[in-house]
Amino acid sequence: MPQPLYRSGDHGPAVAQIRDHLGRLRLLTLPVGESPLDAPFDADVERAVRAFQQQRGLIADGVVGPATWRCLDDARWQLGDRVLRYGVHHMQTGDDVEALQRRLHELGFDPGRIDGIFGPETERALQEFQRNVGTPPDGLCGPVTFKALDRLARTVVGGAPHLIREAQRMHRSGPGLAGKVIVIDPGHGGADPGVVVDGVSEAELVSDLAARVEGRLGAAGATAFLTRGRLPDDEPAPTEAHRAGFANEVDADLLLSLHIDHHSTQLAHGVAAFYYGTSGQSGVHSAVGEQFADLLQQEVVKRTDLLDARTDAKTWEILQRTRMPAVRLDVGYLSHPGDAKRLLDPGFRDTVAEAVLVSLQRLYQHPTDVRDSSLRLPERVR
Ligand SMILES: [Zn+2]
Repeated sequence: MPQPLYRSGDHGPAVAQIRDHLGRLRLLTLPVGESPLDAPFDADVERAVRAFQQQRGLIADGVVGPATWRCLDDARWQLGDRVLRYGVHHMQTGDDVEALQRRLHELGFDPGRIDGIFGPETERALQEFQRNVGTPPDGLCGPVTFKALDRLARTVVGGAPHLIREAQRMHRSGPGLAGKVIVIDPGHGGADPGVVVDGVSEAELVSDLAARVEGRLGAAGATAFLTRGRLPDDEPAPTEAHRAGFANEVDADLLLSLHIDHHSTQLAHGVAAFYYGTSGQSGVHSAVGEQFADLLQQEVVKRTDLLDARTDAKTWEILQRTRMPAVRLDVGYLSHPGDAKRLLDPGFRDTVAEAVLVSLQRLYQHPTDVRDSSLRLPERVR
């Protein structure tokens, strides 16, 4: 095959093709009505070629040599234009391959270098992606895979890979609560008592609740860690980042943060659960987090007479910095006389601890459902 070399003054089918590519890339305005076959390589084309070369990091000489030709050829492919696959003897190259690599990377799969060449690493990453979306892992990027990629990529941006991995991990760790590592995070502590009403502090109450949950988890065969113990009054409470870091370090399967709410009026009351998520069009959220928040909320409401103040997505540090599903439970308002009376009753705290255990058991009962729900993530964004 002769090496292409086209420059100003040339014309013919190859020049027409160059003009066509540049037009599609919006670097050249193609006049309407002109026959493309005898269109010349004129000053406008040369300018467009230079602009293209600059974009691609080529020598901007305005001449279409082999490297520029190859790049122009690659640039004509957009993801979805053709079926992509790994070929041992001839590796596909193109902007569509690069787009595929970029998307896989964004979704938390490792396609190797993002170079627009469909090599073995890209194939492996694609197969892993396919396994995760439940399509045959044939390493073939065709219509079904495009659809799955598109569905996820449109809404999954910024920080989403860990949400996908979170669901993956959930699926792999298998069913049952036994063997799971659960971090319980009693809020505040030490110098930071949280809400204090009539000499009773949020920090003390959630410490007690955490201990009750810890005991039940141990009995169920899970490993429970607390982010803090009972701290001396002058010791600063661990920061949210510190607590999240601790959960990451012990490689927890799940983190549950325990708080009690308060309000300036005595009217607000009830229980609410929060999971990681952002709102808006490009919003993402933790599917597993949401599922656990829902289950927990249900179990607490079912077992107590606390008002159901619903579940909600939040971007709080403890939810955001944790690499595993994380939920924060705000169990009642210490500023509300009725809620406070309940919270002061050890029997009530025991009931809440029971609700936590049952909701965790339910969460780990059907890990496959959890995986599936995470894949509906884009549709479920509010
Ligand atoms: Zn609090």
